[in-house]
Amino acid sequence: MSQAQPGGSGAATAAPVTQHIWWSGKLMPWNEATVHVTSVGWPALSAVFEGIRAYWNPERQALYIFRMDAHLARFWRSMRFMQLHPRWSARELTDATADLLRTDNLRGDVYLQPMAFALGGNRGNQPMAAQDAEIYIHARPAKSQLNTHKPVTTCVSSWTRIHENVLPPKIKAIVNYQNSRLGGTEASRGGYDMALFLNERGKVAEGGGSCIFMIRDGQVITPPITAGILESVTRYSVIELAQRELGLTVIEREIDRTEMYFADEAFFCGTMAEITPVASVDGFELGGGESPGPVSRQLSELFERVVRGQVPAYRHWLEEVTLG
Ligand code: PMP
Repeated sequence: MSQAQPGGSGAATAAPVTQHIWWSGKLMPWNEATVHVTSVGWPALSAVFEGIRAYWNPERQALYIFRMDAHLARFWRSMRFMQLHPRWSARELTDATADLLRTDNLRGDVYLQPMAFALGGNRGNQPMAAQDAEIYIHARPAKSQLNTHKPVTTCVSSWTRIHENVLPPKIKAIVNYQNSRLGGTEASRGGYDMALFLNERGKVAEGGGSCIFMIRDGQVITPPITAGILESVTRYSVIELAQRELGLTVIEREIDRTEMYFADEAFFCGTMAEITPVASVDGFELGGGESPGPVSRQLSELFERVVRGQVPAYRHWLEEVTLG
């Protein structure tokens, strides 16, 4: 096993996945974006990030960034909570992202990760104080699995989802993901693909990095935003598409654990997860073993057409970056 050398370059521990990274105002080669070793650790306490997808459209030789505005609005809320002061506008970050995609000529589906953190004055367990944010934006190829994703098995985690009075689930704070990792680790040790978390009231909350929907008797049901979940951009998009385009009834309400066992269909949704069909919950097979079920399939097909720019009514959800 290779070991990081003391005094070695910070880049040694992070293999370049793309050639460039945007960091606090400029595009630079991946290996040049380094910080002092004492910046590793405590600054992560206030670090917040976004996960955004861009979908390749071969006809237009363009990438479509999905709902950049909604992601950046949440990024701003996350920074505000952590008292991080962004020194760039949402427009500047969008333009920076477009520059990065063009410079690295990423001709395929991409995952984008803007990250904000503070470098100075955070060397321990101190009260939060306003600080300027450093921001980096990193892009890596991530082929969409929409309509091809293998259905996943899930189990209810013995770890409770963080709630408002523990850590704020509505923001994308790095610290929240320790809770996600505990559930994910437990699930994989038990032979399941993904964890499903209950909240402090014992009701279904979300996955470790995705929201959850179930379908019962043709109704599309998902926990409300007060269930201890991230306000997922994908979740809002799915709700809108299901109601407006497919004429389905969508209900936001509390869900009991055993309701998941008897659901006709279920899927996780999120930027990385996209629409991931659920095959079983705690060993209870959904929909008589047919996964994805018909409603999940219909939603995924529509979602894919929307994200690839094939549905004019939803073009305003997409930021086009032409690669020429
Ligand atoms: N919940 C959690 C905990 C997440 O990390 C994510 C991924 N961002 C989601 C839900 C889905 O959110 P979105 O659709 O905005 O990616």
